[in-house]
Order: sequence, then structure tokens, then C-alpha cells
Amino acid sequence: MTASRRQFLTGRVAKPAPEFRPPWTSELRLAQHCTACGDCAPACPEGIIEIKDGRPRIRLNGAACSFCGACATACTAGAFDRDQPEPWPVRVEVGPSCLLAAGIACQLCTDACDSAALRIDLRVRPVGAIRIDAAACTGCGACLAVCPGAALQLRDDRLTQRGT
Ligand code: SF4
Ligand code: SF4
Ligand code: SF4
Repeated sequence: MTASRRQFLTGRVAKPAPEFRPPWTSELRLAQHCTACGDCAPACPEGIIEIKDGRPRIRLNGAACSFCGACATACTAGAFDRDQPEPWPVRVEVGPSCLLAAGIACQLCTDACDSAALRIDLRVRPVGAIRIDAAACTGCGACLAVCPGAALQLRDDRLTQRGT
């Protein structure tokens, strides 16, 4: 389905994806340790790290993070902390451009989620609605890649807390 077809069906235009730092790091840790060497970017097998303004950021571009840890391993400057409890506080959100909201059956995101963080609530008429188990979501981004409605986005709680 083309973007214009999606927009016709949903009446909405996809928002640009927010920028995230790679897993196991943070703005503060990067400020303290990152030397802008760029070693983490080519180490990523998914190609989702790019260096901008001297700092690594995640650009999913239709891919997903596998949490392989290659970025953290490649960094010799101590900018990643593999001992933190979870890779990142990133969770998925579903927006109003979900095809289900337009009465069009779809379950591509639930099929794509290996963490079973998404399900369809069939009690919602006529074709259901997506429900998110935020505790199960790893923020990998796999569901974003398959959504024909461009309805899914990731939210980084650290950014939300800072109001940026
Ligand atoms: S954990 Fe792996 S897939 Fe995820 S950003 Fe790092 S290198 Fe890329
Ligand atoms: S971001 Fe990953 S874990 Fe979270 S709902 Fe999407 S596919 Fe599932
Ligand atoms: S893949 Fe997108 S359009 Fe389809 S059910 Fe999931 S959020 Fe809705």
C-alpha cells in the first residue's frame, strides 16, 4: 500500500519518528563518555545507528533492534552500560491511524511482535482494537516496520520525563 493510499484510508499523515539513543546508554552517559569515534554505528548489524552531531542515535528506517549488544561491545570509551536493568525505557504506542479504527481488519503488528506485547481486543466493534502490554514491550520496533497505517510509534520515557 502506498503512503498516499494509507493517508487516504486513514485521513492522517505519519509523524516523523523520534530520535533515540542506542540501548544501554543515555544522554548523560554519552555526554560523559562518548568520544564521537563512531565505532558503534558500523557495528550494528541492523544498520540502525547513525552518528549525528557527534553522538549516536537510532534511526529504525523499517528495521528493528535485536538487542544483540554489538554497539555496546564496539564502544571502548565506556559510553554503554550493559549492567543497567533493561536496554532502554522505550515503549510502543498506537495512534488513531490504525486501520482497525477505520473498520479495516489488520493484525500485522501482533504477528510481528515476538514479545506478545500486542493483542487485538475483539470486543471493540467492528474489527477490534490494539491493546498494548507495556511491561512486555521491549521497544524493539519490529511492529513499526510492518504497520500499513503508520500508526505505531516508540516513546522514550526519558525524553517524556524531560518534556522534550
Ligand atoms: S543492540 Fe544490536 S541491533 Fe540494537 S542498536 Fe545495538 S548493535 Fe544495533
Ligand atoms: S516494539 Fe517490539 S516488543 Fe514492543 S510491541 Fe512492537 S514488536 Fe512488540
Ligand atoms: S499493524 Fe498498524 S494498522 Fe495494523 S492493527 Fe497494528 S497498528 Fe493497526
